[in-house]
Amino acid sequence: MNREEARRQARVIMDAAGLSDWTFRFDHAKRRAGSCTHARKTITLSGPLVDLYDEATVRGVILHEIAHAMVGPHHHHDAEWKRMARALGAPDDARLPAQLPEPEAPWVGTCPVCGATKKLFRQPKRVVACGSCTHSFDRRRILTWTKDGVPTQPGGAYARELASLRRPLP
Ligand SMILES: [Zn+2]
Ligand SMILES: [Zn+2]
Repeated sequence: MNREEARRQARVIMDAAGLSDWTFRFDHAKRRAGSCTHARKTITLSGPLVDLYDEATVRGVILHEIAHAMVGPHHHHDAEWKRMARALGAPDDARLPAQLPEPEAPWVGTCPVCGATKKLFRQPKRVVACGSCTHSFDRRRILTWTKDGVPTQPGGAYARELASLRRPLP
């Protein structure tokens, strides 16, 4: 769904629910579709997931977060929240249906020995060896990384750890 339409829809439903003093914004989350922060009176939707979802799904997420806003903090997905969600017409389920499209993880690590892959949404912070073809840390099985399909060596702490691992053993 188009983000600007999603923003408009969120605003209309929030105002109708009496949340006109609440703020709406997008965030960059990829593993949850929305959030509700009572302390800041803010409802957010994941921009990347809104791009992938259809209108009905986005509406469900907006209603889900509005139900959190209405029942107040500390309810999570308890019975009271469920009652509110149902009254608003939000999907009951706290999690999104499994068949929704998943955004692609930009970081893919590949085992140089067996070819097993591991996908990450963020740059790896630690050096990882393959867990598929061995159960102990094996320097020959340190994953090699691509970011968005381009071979990329993660920097920072990862690079320092890798350098220390590559020093010859005493
Ligand atoms: Zn929730
Ligand atoms: Zn392997």
